[in-house]
Amino acid sequence: MGRILFFVLLALAIYIAWRYLRMQRRSDGADPRDRPRPNDASAPEAIVRCDSCGLNLPQSEALPAPGAEPRRWYCCEEHRRQGTAR
Ligand SMILES: [Zn+2]
Repeated sequence: MGRILFFVLLALAIYIAWRYLRMQRRSDGADPRDRPRPNDASAPEAIVRCDSCGLNLPQSEALPAPGAEPRRWYCCEEHRRQGTAR
């Protein structure tokens, strides 16, 4: 009888520990440190290609083509003028 009670308590302890670990893991997932931040320096940035010379550069440093061609990017003001003049 004592052995049965021991195993029942052991199973209960394992169950409680398992539930506790699951709840802890779930709260860890809600931790903002685990989420990728858009402004994180380590986050990959979109690389765009200069439509004039073909240079690859980060989108934040590229100059977008004005007007109807929002998908075109240029590495500098001079290439933007060349690209839009074509
Ligand atoms: Zn260029």
